[in-house]
Order: sequence, then structure tokens, then C-alpha cells
Amino acid sequence: MQKKKLNPFKIAQAQLDEAAKKLGLTPHIHQLLRKPMREYHVTIPVKMDSGKIKRFKGFRVQYNDARGPCKGGIRYHPDETIDTVRALAAWMTWKTALLNLPFGGGKGGVICNPKEMSSGELERLSRGYIRMIFKYIGPKVDIPAPDVYTTPQIMAWMMDEYSKLIGYYCPGVITGKPVEVGGSLGRDDATARGGVYTVREAARHLKLDTKGATVAVQGYGNAGLNAAILSQEIFGCKIVAVSDTKGGIYDPNGFDPKAVVEHKRKVGSVINFPGTEFISNENLLELNVDILWPAALENVITKENAPRIKAKIIAEAANGPTTPDADGILYKNGVFVIPDFLCNAGGVTVSYFEWVQNITGLYWELEEIHRRLDERMTRALHNTLNMSLEHKVNMRVAAHMIAVERVARAMELRGWRKKIK
Ligand code: NAD
Repeated sequence: MQKKKLNPFKIAQAQLDEAAKKLGLTPHIHQLLRKPMREYHVTIPVKMDSGKIKRFKGFRVQYNDARGPCKGGIRYHPDETIDTVRALAAWMTWKTALLNLPFGGGKGGVICNPKEMSSGELERLSRGYIRMIFKYIGPKVDIPAPDVYTTPQIMAWMMDEYSKLIGYYCPGVITGKPVEVGGSLGRDDATARGGVYTVREAARHLKLDTKGATVAVQGYGNAGLNAAILSQEIFGCKIVAVSDTKGGIYDPNGFDPKAVVEHKRKVGSVINFPGTEFISNENLLELNVDILWPAALENVITKENAPRIKAKIIAEAANGPTTPDADGILYKNGVFVIPDFLCNAGGVTVSYFEWVQNITGLYWELEEIHRRLDERMTRALHNTLNMSLEHKVNMRVAAHMIAVERVARAMELRGWRKKIK
């Protein structure tokens, strides 16, 4: 299928090229931004429970640090590739710039299957990865965080290993930690909450009443289920469809998203939730709803199904759910897309708050976190919307334009170019 062949790094470069063209970026700066500034490839020996030593391949990509230390998660995945890590590191660079966080972009990955590893093996792998890269990370250099299949517990082990190696407790080296070891309040639902704030602003712009607005969510994990619950709790939206790997459930009259969480916990899937009918993941995307949240996988909205999308707002909680050729179709059809690196930036924003709390030693109440998150997400949405209206470009191009311009400006001011005119 076409979706498997797309190289995420090539997509990231094409998105940059389009923004660079619109901005008239200096060729030298543009070329510098097309490649990661620095990347580390490591081999991690790990003693498995069997007593045998297994070697794992890991990466850390530091894409750009013109605006501050690199920031980005670490993924554990059997299909991890360096190009995926490069693409995600590029997107982190744009995301931190768009939200105006004082960070650059980075990303890490280890090729492994955590589902087949014991807790002890995962701990030894995580500590081994940090031993390989500890010289190149730090609160002022590069600050990792959790991502696919990495957890707050793994962040705690990594922070502990780093602290032991440098000789003092250093919570600011990594974010997404448990609250007991320097984690921030409000990190659990930060991604979805940030996305919900952007949806509120998009709805205001479209003059769409969020009370009673219908919502479908693809993917009922951390991002998706919190998006459903918060949309209902904060705005009174009506959740009519949600899905996971096994398929989806649909009820045009709406259902209680919290009860679905409980059902999934008991039976392992959202399907067969009482009072709902089955819907496939493909059909869920094409439902006649006000707000659609792709919150699972990349490349699910393509040029094939984009003409049939009826949602008024697409809130991209997932990374890369829309292919570049689908974007044009959605824009032409008037679908308001909140692009991934804006919609799901709540996670890194609260990670930033965690880092600030770690380095100052002053910890904030939950209300403070929510207020600051709302402010940043709302500002970023309106900056992007204004750019989109002013230049008559879709929201993704507009978001890239703002972010790339900010990074390029920092590079120019710091003198990272051939000739000073
Ligand atoms: P998760 O593992 O908690 O949940 C993923 C959900 O998607 C699960 O319910 C799973 O069953 C479902 N799913 C997997 N394959 C599917 C398929 N083929 N069809 C339908 N559903 C499928 O992951 P998450 O943390 O919620 O992340 C989801 C997306 O959001 C990812 O793209 C991730 O990169 C992005 N994201 C998450 C965060 C965060 O803080 N959690 C931050 C930024 C971006």
C-alpha cells in the first residue's frame, strides 16, 4: 500500500522546502535546515534474563539547537529507522519554535520490542542507552522525554543513570518523569488538553458551537481517550465514535467516553460497548461529524479518502496522520486542519514546564499548568491562523512558515551563515 512506502524524512524535507520557498529563505540557511545538525548511532550491549548478551541499535538525533537545547522523546520500536527519528527530530524543531519554547528539536530511538522484554531487561537497556549518550545530553544540551513505548518509569531509570554518571541528582535532564522524582502535574493529559484548547479556538473562528458538537476519535490511547473525555467535560461535545486496533464503535446519540475506558480496560478493546454499533477504522474517518481526531497512526488520511471526509475540524493528535497530497484536497474542501505539531504540542509544552520547575526547584499547582498551557496553545493557534489567512495557505504550511522563520532568524542572528551582508 502507498502509505507504507512514504519516507517520513522525505516528507519533512518537502514540508520545509515549501515553507522555505514561501519565506524566500536564504539558500544556505535552507540547506542547513534540510539535514540534522548532529546524530549519534550507538550499539547497546544488554544482559538478557537468559544470561546472554544482546546488542541493540540506538539513535539520538539533534536536529537543530539554534533556539535552545534540543528537546524530543525516545521511542522503543522494532521498526524504528534513522529516517523516522530524523523526521521526528525535524518536527520537534518546528514544534518548539511554533510554541515559542526556548528549545531546539531532537529525537531518539532504540530498535527493540518492549512487548517481548521483561522489566529488568528494559531497565538495563534504558540505563545502557543513557551510558552511551550521556556525554551528549543534559539540561542545557538535549533533554529527552517519553514517546512510543517509553514510560515515566523508563524516564526515572534514565534520569537516575544520568545522575549517577555525573555525580548529582539532575531531574532536568529528562521530562515525562513520575511526579515523585520531579515530574510535573498535568503531564498525563497534556497532549489532549492542549489539542482541545486549539479545537476551541478553531471552533470560535468557524462559529461552530462546541456544546453538542459531534466528535469521532480514531485511536483510544493516551491522546485519543483524553481528547474524548476532555471534549465532553470542558465543552459538552457529543462523542459519537471511537476506535482502536480491533475496530470502532458508533452511536449517533453519543456515549460516555469514561465508561468506554472502563469497558476497554476490562475486555481489551472499545468494541462491543453496550448500545453502540461496530464501525471500521476507515468508515469512522468519513463520518459526518463536526470534529475528527486522528489519534493513532500516520498516513490514515490520504488522497483516496480525503474527498470523502465530512468533518469540519480535523484535530491531528497523532503525528503525521494526513499525507501531503490529502492536505490540498482538505484545504480546497474547507476542512479546518489543526496540524499535528500544533495540535499535539501540549505534551512538549508541559514538558517545558517540567524542565522549568526542575531547574528552578519551584513546583506549580495544576491550575497554574492548565492556565499557562491554555495561553500558549491559544496564542500558537491564532498566530498560525493569521498566517494562513494572510498568505492564503493551509494551516500546516502556515505553521511551518512561522516555525521555520523563527529558527532561521535565530541562526542568522547567531551568525550561522556564509556571508554577513
Ligand atoms: P497509545 O499507544 O497510548 O494509543 C494509541 C491508540 O491507537 C491505541 O488505542 C491503539 O489501539 C490505537 N491504534 C493503533 N493502531 C491502530 C489502528 N491501525 N487503527 C486504529 N487505532 C489504532 O499512543 P498515544 O500516546 O495516544 O499516541 C497516539 C498518537 O499521538 C501517536 O501518533 C503519537 O505520536 C501522538 N502523540 C502522542 C503524544 C502523547 O503525549 N501521548 C504526544 C504527541 C503526539
